[in-house]
Amino acid sequence: MSQEPQIDNISARVKHIVRYREVVNYGTRFGLIVMTRDGRILEVNHTILEDTGMSLNDLVGKYVVERPWWSYSLETQRQIREVMKRAMRGETVRFDIRVCPRPTFYRDIDATIMPFLDSTSQGEYLIWTGFDVTERKRLEDEKHFLIDAIPTIIWTARPDGYIDYLNKQWSNYTLASIEQSSGDDWSKYVHPDDRQKALATWYGMIRTGEPGENEYRLRNGATGEYRWFLVHTTPIRDAQGNIVGWCGTSADNHDKKMVEVALRVRELQFRTLFDANIIGIGITDIYGRVWEANDTYLQMLGGTREDMNRGEVRWDQLTPPEYLERDEKAIQELLESGTCQPYEKEYQRPDGKRILVVVGIALLDKESGKAICFFVDITARKELEKRKDEFISLASHELKTPITSLKMLIQFLRRRVQKEGDKRTNYALMRMELQVDALKRLIDDLLNVSKIQMGLFSYEDEILDPDKVLHETIEVLQPTLADHVLILHGHLHHALVCDQQRFNQVVTNLVTNAAKYSPEAHEVDIFLSESEQWICIKVCDHGVGIPASQREKIFERFNRGAYGTSEKAFSGLGMGLYITYEIITHYHGSITVESEEGKGSIFTVYLPFAQQT
Ligand code: ADP
Repeated sequence: MSQEPQIDNISARVKHIVRYREVVNYGTRFGLIVMTRDGRILEVNHTILEDTGMSLNDLVGKYVVERPWWSYSLETQRQIREVMKRAMRGETVRFDIRVCPRPTFYRDIDATIMPFLDSTSQGEYLIWTGFDVTERKRLEDEKHFLIDAIPTIIWTARPDGYIDYLNKQWSNYTLASIEQSSGDDWSKYVHPDDRQKALATWYGMIRTGEPGENEYRLRNGATGEYRWFLVHTTPIRDAQGNIVGWCGTSADNHDKKMVEVALRVRELQFRTLFDANIIGIGITDIYGRVWEANDTYLQMLGGTREDMNRGEVRWDQLTPPEYLERDEKAIQELLESGTCQPYEKEYQRPDGKRILVVVGIALLDKESGKAICFFVDITARKELEKRKDEFISLASHELKTPITSLKMLIQFLRRRVQKEGDKRTNYALMRMELQVDALKRLIDDLLNVSKIQMGLFSYEDEILDPDKVLHETIEVLQPTLADHVLILHGHLHHALVCDQQRFNQVVTNLVTNAAKYSPEAHEVDIFLSESEQWICIKVCDHGVGIPASQREKIFERFNRGAYGTSEKAFSGLGMGLYITYEIITHYHGSITVESEEGKGSIFTVYLPFAQQT
């Protein structure tokens, strides 16, 4: 049976132990307390007396847990009670604790309490040994304070990979304490999809002992959002090269990663388009070299991949001379704005065959002049268009002859019924003639458009009196535009070298449009003026006007502006202004339109006397 030692009856052996330890630990700050099994002080060594500033008599018989040394913190009081309880149950307990033996004086202690059975006296004791680690702790705290100030997550691990320290940034971000994150528990805050790989990479480094990188998403404790972190890990080695621990940093690289992901997606999308070979795509430079191209691009230009890799596929050498100027313009545009409007050009392949393409280019890098270039082969489409134009031209020709005969027959009949005084038949024939005229104009326009397309629109210039021609044209038009009065303002005095028929066409188109698009108005004003260099014709109506978005387009072939071809309100096919524009530009003139919706439009034509070349 072991005995409960009495305060005044401490065994000589225990006293001896205390003295012995005192000698052994001489020079170190080592505290030793011998206690009864219920935690009352029996003996203390010199360090304890010195630190507490008390005599042995003052201490003997007092319960360690009741000392004021712990009163500074409830948490420490709870801790000391807990460890004493465990020691009293016979456990050896090692723990770190801060003790305040005197006000404003503290010590950090690496303490152990162990039960001790004195075999000679059969007394049972609890022996407290404590090493003063205040300085080490202070240095550590200082280190942690510094580490906490770094705005990156920093952590350390034991050689086996057990995370034993994480700085404040970790807790700030994850809202998890070190206790909740040590060991492998940090991985709980890693995105479930990345967790397995993150742990495997980490333990892979532990196995090889090599520094490395890891990348995974960490959960933001406050928002629940996952952000990407790049983790750098380094082993810490002692003088012999043994790994004594690991340390690492985890830096938020979410934004960079997102940019990378977006770029990768874009690259993938581009690759898909590139490899789909729907259109020809290549990386070229403005100096002529083709650096990279998909199969369609190479097939179109008639080169092989090997030729391209050798730098022998050159777009400049495959461009016929008549297109070089257009290319120059595109390059200029490219350098100024980074892109160039798609344009049509031809390439002459090494086998001599020409292809017609639409080219679009976007500059990649101004310094190297590299650009991404796409092509669509429109040779077949152009061929079809040409055939269509030829067909329209042929059909219009075929229609013209019977229409002309029809008109002549109507005129013949009209003369007869006029002689016979048959007014009703004459009226019917007159209406018929008007319809035939409209049909003839339509066929003429179709023929003209296809001639323009095929480059066959001809001009027979003569010296004409524009004032006279204009007055005559208006005179002829007036009866056909019964709802409007055509008012000519001003006169022209100089002769003009021009094709009279074409000149007529311009005036007729503008005036008939002015009347057609102003059904509610009753007047169309035509203003004439001239200078030494030009004549000016302004045709003004008070009609529906043209929306701003349509004004540029109305001069294009078959463009009906705000009205589709199915438009009932204003019939038409969108050919008149196209032909007008063609004639005016042939004579180096200009045509512009001003308009206000609902108020009317003004078409202004300038025709120069002198033909520029
Ligand atoms: P069409 O009159 O047969 O449609 P045009 O080539 O003469 O063909 O004119 C093209 C388009 O321009 C017309 O469809 C119309 O939208 C617009 N336009 C031309 N002249 C006028 C005008 N005086 N007022 C309003 N819109 C006009």
